[in-house]
Amino acid sequence: MSDLQAVRGMHDILPEELPRWRRLEEVFRTISARFGYEEIRTPLVEYAHLYVRSVGPDTDIVHKEMYLFTDRGGEQIALRPEFTAGVVRALLQHGLLHRRSLWRLWYYGPAFRYERPQKGRYRQFHQYGAECFGSPYPESDVEIIQLAVAILKELGITTYELQLNTLGTPVERRRYQQELVAFFREVRSQLSAESQQRLERNPLRILDSKHPADQPFIERAPQIWDSLGRESREHFQYVYTSLRAVGIPVQVNPRLVRGLDYYTHTVFEFISPQLGAQNAFGGGGRYDGLVESFGGPPVPAVGFAFGVERLLLLLPEQPGQPVAQLYVASAGAPEAAYQVAMHLRAAGYRAVCDLQRRSLKAQLREADRLGIPVAVIVGEAEWQRGNVLLRLLSNGVQWECPFQDLLPHVRQALVH
Ligand code: AMP
Repeated sequence: MSDLQAVRGMHDILPEELPRWRRLEEVFRTISARFGYEEIRTPLVEYAHLYVRSVGPDTDIVHKEMYLFTDRGGEQIALRPEFTAGVVRALLQHGLLHRRSLWRLWYYGPAFRYERPQKGRYRQFHQYGAECFGSPYPESDVEIIQLAVAILKELGITTYELQLNTLGTPVERRRYQQELVAFFREVRSQLSAESQQRLERNPLRILDSKHPADQPFIERAPQIWDSLGRESREHFQYVYTSLRAVGIPVQVNPRLVRGLDYYTHTVFEFISPQLGAQNAFGGGGRYDGLVESFGGPPVPAVGFAFGVERLLLLLPEQPGQPVAQLYVASAGAPEAAYQVAMHLRAAGYRAVCDLQRRSLKAQLREADRLGIPVAVIVGEAEWQRGNVLLRLLSNGVQWECPFQDLLPHVRQALVH
C-alpha cells in the first residue's frame, strides 16, 4: 500500500476518458426525459440499517460487501451499495407518495461495494438507474425495459442479450425456495463450498453459481414456473409478449434470480458476451413489497440499474475532441493575445493561450500537438495596425484580418 496509489478498487477518471463519460451522462439525461422520468439525487451515505432491511441481511451485498463505518456520533453508516433503498427512503421521508400516485425517477452516481476487484468489477463504480413507483401492472415493467433499451440504442450498443425471468409473489417464491432447499439438500455434499453456504443463507442464489460442480444439479433443479399461480404467469406473459411485440428480443432464463432480496415477479438482466466473467451490465425487476417493508404505503415499483463502467467497455470508440478550437499565439504581444482570447471566449469559442512564455514557433507546435485546428496569431506589428493573423494548422495557410472582423474569419477558418 502506498499513499500515492488510489484506494484499491477505486479509479480516477482522467481528462482523456471524460468525453466518453459525458456522452453517457448526456444520453441518460436525454432519454430519461423523453420517457418522462425525473432525476433524483440522494446522499452517498445512509444509515447501514436501511440496506440490511431492504437489500436483505443474507445477500452478498449486505453480508460482505458493504462499506461500513461508525461516525463520530456512534451511528452505523454505509456508503451506498445501490440506489433503490435511498430513493425509497427519500420518497417516504418527503411524503412524495402522497403527492402523486405515480413517480417516474432516475438517478446516476457512484456506488460502493467491497468486492474483489477485477475487470469490470470495482469497489467504487457508477450506476445509472430508473424506477417507476405506483403501478402494479406489467405495462410499467415493459416501460422500464423500453427505457433501458432506448438508452442502449442511443449509445450504439447492440451486442447484448436481455434475459427475463419471474420470481412470482413472495408466497410463491417462498414455496419455490423450500422446494429448492429440499432438492439441493439431497446432493449437498456434492455442491461447491459456496453453494453449500448459500443453501442455508440464500438458496435461490445457488442458481447463479458458475462453479462447474454445481452445474449438473442446477440443470435438474425445480423451476420457479411450476410454483407460480395464474396471476404471476399472466404478468410474466404480458411482459414477454409486449416486449416481443415492440421488437425487443428477450431470452427467458428460468435460473435468473438476481442478488437482492426485494424482487417480486419480473427480474431481468442485460448480458454481453464482450464482457468476460462479469458479463452482466445491467439488471432490475419489480419490487412490490419494498416501500411497504419500509413502513410506507403498499406502493408497487419496478426499476433497473446499469453499471456505467461496463457500459463504457461496450461503448463504440469515438474520436476525441481537442481541448480547444483556437490557439491564440502571441508574437511579442502577450497582453493583446489574452485580450483576443477573452474576446473569442465571450463569443462562445474554446480558446487557449501560451502560459509558458514560449517562442511563436513553439506555441504553434504545441497547438498542433494538441490537435487544435486554428491559430490566431497576435503579432506586435499587425496589432499596431489593428489586425491579427489566422493560420490553419493543417496546411499552414494564413491570412491577415482586422481584429474587428475576427469572428466571421474564425467561423470560416473553423469550417476548413
Ligand atoms: P446489481 O444491483 O448488483 O444488479 O448491479 C447493477 C449493475 O451494476 C450490474 O449489472 C453491474 O453492471 C454493475 N455493478 C455491480 N457491482 C459492480 C462492481 N463492483 N463494479 C462495477 N460494476 C458493478
